[in-house]
Amino acid sequence: MRKKSWDLIVVGAGPAGCTLATIVKKHAPGRRVLILEKARGPRHHIGESLLPGLVPVLKEMGVFEKIDTAGFPRKIGANYIWGKTREVWENDFNDVNVKEMIERRGGFPEKIEYAWQVRRSIYDEILLQHALENGVEVMRGAAAVSPVERAGRVVGVKALDGEKRAVSLSCGHLADCSGQNGFLSRFKKVREYNPKLKNVAAYAYYQGAPWKYRFNGHPDKTKIFVCSTDCGWFWYIPIAKDIVSVGLVTSQAHLKDTGLEPEELFNKELARCAEIAPLLKNARRIEDFDGSGQGFFTINDWSYLNVAASGPGWLAAGDAAVFVDPILSSGVTLAHVGAHRAAYTLLTQWREKNEKSRAALWRDYDLFCRESAEQFLALALFWYGNDRRAEKWWGRAKELQKAWLPVEMSDHLSFVTVSAGLTRFYERALTAAGLASAEPLRPKDLPFYVSVLGRQKGLERAAVGGPGPDDRLALPHPFVEEIVYFPAAEGARLQPAKRVRFLKRDPKKGLNDALNPRLVVTRYHLIVLGLIDGVRTTHDVLAAAAERGVPAWWLRGPARSFLTELSIQGVLSARRPAAARGAA
Ligand SMILES: Cc1cc2nc3c(=O)[nH]c(=O)nc-3n(C[C@H](O)[C@H](O)[C@H](O)COP(=O)(O)OP(=O)(O)OC[C@H]3O[C@@H](n4cnc5c(N)ncnc54)[C@H](O)[C@@H]3O)c2cc1C
Repeated sequence: MRKKSWDLIVVGAGPAGCTLATIVKKHAPGRRVLILEKARGPRHHIGESLLPGLVPVLKEMGVFEKIDTAGFPRKIGANYIWGKTREVWENDFNDVNVKEMIERRGGFPEKIEYAWQVRRSIYDEILLQHALENGVEVMRGAAAVSPVERAGRVVGVKALDGEKRAVSLSCGHLADCSGQNGFLSRFKKVREYNPKLKNVAAYAYYQGAPWKYRFNGHPDKTKIFVCSTDCGWFWYIPIAKDIVSVGLVTSQAHLKDTGLEPEELFNKELARCAEIAPLLKNARRIEDFDGSGQGFFTINDWSYLNVAASGPGWLAAGDAAVFVDPILSSGVTLAHVGAHRAAYTLLTQWREKNEKSRAALWRDYDLFCRESAEQFLALALFWYGNDRRAEKWWGRAKELQKAWLPVEMSDHLSFVTVSAGLTRFYERALTAAGLASAEPLRPKDLPFYVSVLGRQKGLERAAVGGPGPDDRLALPHPFVEEIVYFPAAEGARLQPAKRVRFLKRDPKKGLNDALNPRLVVTRYHLIVLGLIDGVRTTHDVLAAAAERGVPAWWLRGPARSFLTELSIQGVLSARRPAAARGAA
């Protein structure tokens, strides 16, 4: 057996593996990073309809232009047939360009435009070639077989290399980015399946299907078409000029009850689908798609979460850590964003000397993986539930979004924000991606979270007296405080911040925080929070904070967003007192 050593070995060259390896190498070029990929060359994969939420990660990796010019159909939204009627309803990402929303939340891209519908063999190959160009080493045709452990820590991996020779490779960290396969997660026995989402997907690719604007938008601005059936739903995705991906999702239980083979059920349901069947009438099914040797595919579509996404010497990212459901096309976005966070966690822990702080970083990574999936999961559960009113689905999205996004939006627009991938995890993940290349911070322009991210850039130079970070808060609402990590404004690292979670009283479950905001607090926030108790209106709070010396720029910017959030949650009234209104 040959022995070699790397700082990081990544198992799997999908979106998660390539993102993790590239981001690490980009910010720590001196580190040795190796990807093991069991496929020998470009390979077929499911997961073709992407969300704009992943764009900032591609930009930080430096691969955005390559993807954007590769000829993939641009995607600007989704069209659905689901609900009480067979009317098509639409999601358009461009509706998300609400100025107020972007201003209120630092970290959103300036404009939310499009993603792509991709042929994964090509998309993943671009990512892998890009990783190579960034100095990542790659072993193709090499399958990880088992982790190597010493004293409870993963210190390497046993693998079969491209010539099927056994090799033992040692590393500082082993990253499981092996997708659903979950090579390491299975060894660690950390994967937990969601009993409510055990589906199966059956799919194929067609050439020569005519374009239908109502379902798939314009050829230059495409949409995914999601079409419900009696037993589940179809996706209909243009992944190239003349190729559509068509898939049926149904429950494992239903497939079993029918006694049919997946392909038989697929054909039967397709023939019954009044919207899609006519489009495929003269189309040709592609046999041997992307060199897979197959013309028809099935895949288990089970939702799961790792109870731990990291441990001594290892981490999991992408599908290897969590998979929700295909309904909102969130998988590849979660893979990019999760791997971006894994890279930042690793880069930070390499600098961190304190053992306790390292442990806190990885605890936060576990939490991040869980939280990143929460909103998609809540909406997926609704989709498969009994209430088939589209408006109710959008309303659920609003409940989830309004808890952290202090902007008045319609139910439908809230739903579009989720379906663009802009969920609560976004603020945790990517606020720094945009900031990394931003102009030097100017306090007067700072939105809410920049006040946190910019802390170490001297923003508190003008800090005033007030409660310190360890002071107890006095709030009329029940809450918990905790330390979480955010990307710092520079240096590709995470920095700790304090988070306040407000708890709601639920008659059945007692106190819970399922839909509550997760606020990050700086020292100024603490001053403002300390003033809320017993003070009724935002106006009063701002006036009192000014008296305590909180700078005017902070009160005009971050404080307003913060107080709006509190108002939305009913912690304080947004009304100005009558006297002040009269004076205005
Ligand atoms: C039915 C269905 C439809 C979906 N539709 C969408 C969609 O429209 N949009 C979307 O965003 N997501 C979708 N997804 C999810 C999407 O497929 C995944 O979330 C995404 O591919 C995860 O990326 P990843 O990098 O984590 O893993 P993967 O893309 O699975 O990559 C893992 C890589 O690891 C390699 N590997 C595995 N085991 C080993 C080993 N032992 N040694 C070495 N290499 C190994 C594999 O060859 C592979 O290249 C769908 C999923 C399903 C099930």
